[in-house]
Amino acid sequence: MRKYVIMGVPGSGKSTQSAMLAREFDLVRITVGAIFRWHVKNHTKIGAQVRRVMAAGELVGDDLVEKLVRERLDQHDWNYGFIIDGFPRNRRQTEFFLESYDIDAVIYLDLPDSEVRRRVLSRRLCAGCGMDYNLIENRPKREGVCDMCGGELVTREDDTAEALVTRLREYHGKTDPVLELFRRKAYVYVIDASRDPETVQREIRERLGLLSTKSA
Ligand code: AMP
Repeated sequence: MRKYVIMGVPGSGKSTQSAMLAREFDLVRITVGAIFRWHVKNHTKIGAQVRRVMAAGELVGDDLVEKLVRERLDQHDWNYGFIIDGFPRNRRQTEFFLESYDIDAVIYLDLPDSEVRRRVLSRRLCAGCGMDYNLIENRPKREGVCDMCGGELVTREDDTAEALVTRLREYHGKTDPVLELFRRKAYVYVIDASRDPETVQREIRERLGLLSTKSA
C-alpha cells in the first residue's frame, strides 16, 4: 500500500507526474481541483458554490474541501494506494489529513515562479478526460484535440495572467507552510521540476525506491 501526496506551484507538473505514477503502480489518483472542475462543468450545487472562487485563483473553503476528500478516500477503492494532488493546501487541511491518514511520502515538485507563468499560460486541458497538454513542450498530435479521447482542448478558466498572480500568492502564503508540517511527519522528496517530464518521473521513482516494470 502506497500513500503519496504530490505538491508544487501551479504548472509544476503535478498532474502529469501523478498520472504517470498512478498508471504504472495502480494507484488511485485523487485530484481535488479536477473534482471541482467536474462540478463546475456539470453545473452541480457544489459547482455553483466554487466557480467564482476558483476562477479568481483563490482557495475553496476548508469545510467543503475536507468533506470532499474524506468522502473520496472513504470509498476505499485504493487497493494499491493513492496519490493525492492539490491537497492539503493550508495548515488546517494538513492537520485534518495527518490526523486521519498515514502518508508514506510527499513529492514536492520544485519550480521557480519565473517558469510558472510561461508554463501555465500555454497549458490546455481536455474538456473530456481532463488530460493536460502544453503548447510549448507537450503538444497534442492534432491541434486542439486530445490524443487520448479525442475531446476538445480548452484553456482552464483560472489559467490567466490575473488569476495566476492570486494563485501564486495563495500558494506561497498558505501552501508553503504545509511543507514544513509534512517535514516533521512524513518523508518529503524535493524534486527539480524544471526538467522534462520523463526525467522528473525517473527521479521520483528512484528517490522513492519504486521499481517499475516499464521504463518511465
Ligand atoms: P488545481 O487544479 O490544483 O490548481 O486547483 C484549482 C483550484 O481548485 C484552486 O485554485 C482552488 O480554487 C481549488 N482547490 C483545489 N484544491 C483545493 C484545496 N485543497 N483547497 C482549497 N481549494 C482548492
